Amino acid sequence: MPFEWKPHWDHEKVDETKCRAGVHDATGVGFHQCTRKAKVDGKWCKQHSPEEEKRRREESDKRWDEQRDQQARATRNSAWWLVIDEVKKADKELAERLTKLQYELGGREQ
Ligand SMILES: [Zn+2]
Repeated sequence: MPFEWKPHWDHEKVDETKCRAGVHDATGVGFHQCTRKAKVDGKWCKQHSPEEEKRRREESDKRWDEQRDQQARATRNSAWWLVIDEVKKADKELAERLTKLQYELGGREQ
């Protein structure tokens, strides 16, 4: 559900024709009622409608997931290179094969 604005002072009052969402003041300190006309369910403007909020939340969740996956992949890759480096220290013949393999995979110069 969108964040609903409530009056805090005597001079403030909910405008029933306007969207009920609370939006940040220009100063960023307080909130005021959204100035757009209430069109969705007689309560929200299009941007603050529950469906739109949900859509935006899902979109940003998806972006986060993608970013996290990418980071996890990068970490896994570099950990994998480190493991190979350690193995190469232990066995000379294996080291040559692994270096060649790393080169072929394109991840690293010889
Ligand atoms: Zn609004």
